[in-house]
Amino acid sequence: MTEFELIRRLLEHIPGARTDVVLGAGDDAACLRPPPGRELVVSTDTLVAGVHFTPDVDPRALGHKALAVNLSDLAAMGAEPAWATLALTLPEADPAWVDGFAAGFGALAAEHGVALVGGDTTRGPLAVGVTVIGSIEPGRALRRDRAVPGDWICVSGALGEAGWWLTERRAGREPPPGNALDWPQPRVALGRALAGLAHAAIDVSDGLIADLGHILEASGVGASVYLDGLPLGAPLRAQPDRAAMLQLALTAGDDYELCFTVAEVDMARLDALQRRLGLPLSPIGRIEAKPGLRLLSEHAGALRIEAGGYDHFGRSG
Ligand code: ADP
Ligand code: MG
Repeated sequence: MTEFELIRRLLEHIPGARTDVVLGAGDDAACLRPPPGRELVVSTDTLVAGVHFTPDVDPRALGHKALAVNLSDLAAMGAEPAWATLALTLPEADPAWVDGFAAGFGALAAEHGVALVGGDTTRGPLAVGVTVIGSIEPGRALRRDRAVPGDWICVSGALGEAGWWLTERRAGREPPPGNALDWPQPRVALGRALAGLAHAAIDVSDGLIADLGHILEASGVGASVYLDGLPLGAPLRAQPDRAAMLQLALTAGDDYELCFTVAEVDMARLDALQRRLGLPLSPIGRIEAKPGLRLLSEHAGALRIEAGGYDHFGRSG
């Protein structure tokens, strides 16, 4: 397969058209029409073999995840995704692998109305770089530096499931099809609904403690998190070692849920939102003026959470 056959094969499986794509893949660059009166929101994330996944990864899952982690960043800003570019580095041009990768990438792109408008293809150690571009109403982007004391801290979905399946895979047990580690679902609809409602937001890619820590640091505030209300993924709830499962939920990465802060007066609006989206939105703590992160639990005695920089620990009541 030549480089051009490979590119043609990719583009066959991945949507490339939108009314605002003036000129898509195939020329020296793409021409895009920005939505009138809106701000553009841009993000890039790269997945590298041996760092983010093993080289024998299912190519469909890799295609899905490469786009999903990028859409998750747009979701965390509250943006509506529109366009993507793809920088693909491959050790060899295997048609079946390229078809699988493009099918995974293409299905998620179609689901979110994203057009692939260009990219670059090179030979080398397997790596996938994706750039996504979306838009938002001026001034509405969900930033990390807008959390205010008194805000509720909320998290979507459940935590720790991707970390659980990573542990299983490392122990030689292959996760089931559709598992949260290989097939994260970017919370795009939630992010868009939170723009204008939440004060601050971030996607949970490095574990809740680390990512909430970014909000606290950027906003110059602290927080208390109530561990007994943390939404644990289904496989974690079935385990007897609750302390180990809490550790996983707080520190394992790759969840791609949204962590966001909401003023007390707006909390009532989350009920309707979680029903409309069919996605649990759990209040897990409060933003406070006092710096640092306090992890509170009625059963704290059994817990020793290791988390660099944010290991303050306490007990409620
Ligand atoms: P150039 O040499 O001008 O950079 P390329 O040969 O790299 O052009 O790419 C040819 C066309 O194919 C460009 O429009 C580019 O955007 C597109 N393209 C190349 N690789 C990819 C890819 N992995 N995904 C999407 N489009 C791609
Ligand atoms: Mg090029």
